[in-house]
Amino acid sequence: MSSSLDSFLAKAHIAYFSMEIAIRSEMRTYAGGLGVLAGDTARSCADLELPVVFVTLVSRAGYFRQTIDAQGRQVEEPDYWEPSDFCEPLDALIAVRIEGRQVWIRPWLYVQTCPLCHQVPILLLDTDLDQNAPEDREITHNLYGDGDEYRLKQEIVLGIGGIRLLRALGFNVHTYHLNEGHAALLTLELLNQWKVLPEDRISGEPSYDIAKVREQCVFTTHTPVEAGHDRFSYELFERFLPDFVELSSLKQLAGKDRLNMTRLALNLSDYVNGVARRHTETTERMFPGYRVHNITNGVHAGVWTHDAFARLYQDHFPHWQHEPEILVRALQLPEAELWRAHLAAKADLVAKVAELTGTTLDPALPVLGFARRMTGYKRPLLLFEDLDRLAKIATAYPFQVVMAGKAHPRDADGKEAVRELHEVVRNLAGKITCTFLPDYDMDIAKTLVAGADVWLNTPLPPFEASGTSGMKAALNGGLNLSVLDGWWVEACIEGVTGWAIGKDGDGGSNHDHATALYDKLESVVLPLYHADPERWRWMMKQAIANIAYYFNSARMMRRYAAEAYLR
Ligand SMILES: *Cc1c(COP(=O)(O)O)cnc(C)c1O
Repeated sequence: MSSSLDSFLAKAHIAYFSMEIAIRSEMRTYAGGLGVLAGDTARSCADLELPVVFVTLVSRAGYFRQTIDAQGRQVEEPDYWEPSDFCEPLDALIAVRIEGRQVWIRPWLYVQTCPLCHQVPILLLDTDLDQNAPEDREITHNLYGDGDEYRLKQEIVLGIGGIRLLRALGFNVHTYHLNEGHAALLTLELLNQWKVLPEDRISGEPSYDIAKVREQCVFTTHTPVEAGHDRFSYELFERFLPDFVELSSLKQLAGKDRLNMTRLALNLSDYVNGVARRHTETTERMFPGYRVHNITNGVHAGVWTHDAFARLYQDHFPHWQHEPEILVRALQLPEAELWRAHLAAKADLVAKVAELTGTTLDPALPVLGFARRMTGYKRPLLLFEDLDRLAKIATAYPFQVVMAGKAHPRDADGKEAVRELHEVVRNLAGKITCTFLPDYDMDIAKTLVAGADVWLNTPLPPFEASGTSGMKAALNGGLNLSVLDGWWVEACIEGVTGWAIGKDGDGGSNHDHATALYDKLESVVLPLYHADPERWRWMMKQAIANIAYYFNSARMMRRYAAEAYLR
């Protein structure tokens, strides 16, 4: 076995399973916030020397590369990356029998090293092997690829294949962390491990030692809508994995009519958590009878802080990377230095926008940033409900807008939103400089969250489980202007750390929220930027002190370690 793996084998006894993970921008193994969270989790595990091994799919063709055609429509292309550029092939090989065929799986090893120099292993599962039938070679190509059949095969490879590989490589895992329901099939492999033999069973008792499986599993759910959860027909499941587990037991655990991955994970995990206080409450209402803990998300301070801010923090708080809590003292940062760091981050954004789109931004004017997955509940068009009103506001208080985001290829509404945004950009030309950066990824996110003055978020409550891009902005002194949902319910101190759009629990109709957004921009946010730079800089420091010190993944992982892993 390879020497780079040896050092991890004895130590790593917690396995974190995630369908996607944002390790580095060039490795296209992520689609959005879920993957970025998994990546920040890995980075903080490395920082904190937590004994964790990560398991994901290699997703050779990525999520997709987004370009925009002349009509402003999203065009999708495969986004291939070359695993051997970044990862080491391991010579372990295992198989899972799917639909009567052996599907062979081999892992790549990526070693995540962090600023503090510690490391964790990340295993990327690959079925693109000579041994496999042509269609099986593609199972690990497209992240969130099309159709139930493809998706179920991917989840079999991730969950069941992942566990078998860990065993084959010699890991001795005692805790499995399921990042979202995609990995829930790993519990079936565990059920089989804890089978109760017929001669030991009292009639009517389950055939599996459920308590043993539950002891080993931690489940983090991220989706506050039932419809967002993966479900498969039992017919399909039986076709792919005939006689893999006792169907009657499975139906008790995962739902009578369909195999619901969230139900399965909920029933087989001793520790379940939501990712922000509001989301945890929503989850408890959706699944009465389950105990749901809360660990609010955080972002990795080292990765999401612009170099200029990192130097500023380093000068004043030398241990800030290991102890981001110290940023609670950000009020003592000299305002001139803070503003200089912001101008450096903003200059980088201005340069990136010019490079990618040819649009010239004015660094003296405020930049509103909006970037996230383009999908219905995120309401990317809310800012543009009333173009006349928006243009009028811009006449009094000029501002600019930079946007980015991908719509899932099958999300017709999301794709239509991308097209409409491009139409809006054209309609506002000469009135408001708006621009859309194609192919949103970690690189663009890093530049955009750091360079924007105001970070805008307009989700329809309660659908934003947490949201993390606003946390990245706050690490760089960015001020959030957001609907009260997800993490922002916990972080917003009105007029201090940022601003709310509308009131908590106000129902959130598009029209009301758009009006509230315009009112706040016109009477509070933009006048403050233009007329009271001192107060603005004070708020930037308040955002760092009250948000960045807490909403980081070092705090998040200390809590997972203490509350979920150490039980
Ligand atoms: C942080 C990030 C996200 C998540 O942003 P949200 O505000 O949570 O929606 C999505 N995509 C990329 C590339 C990111 O860096």
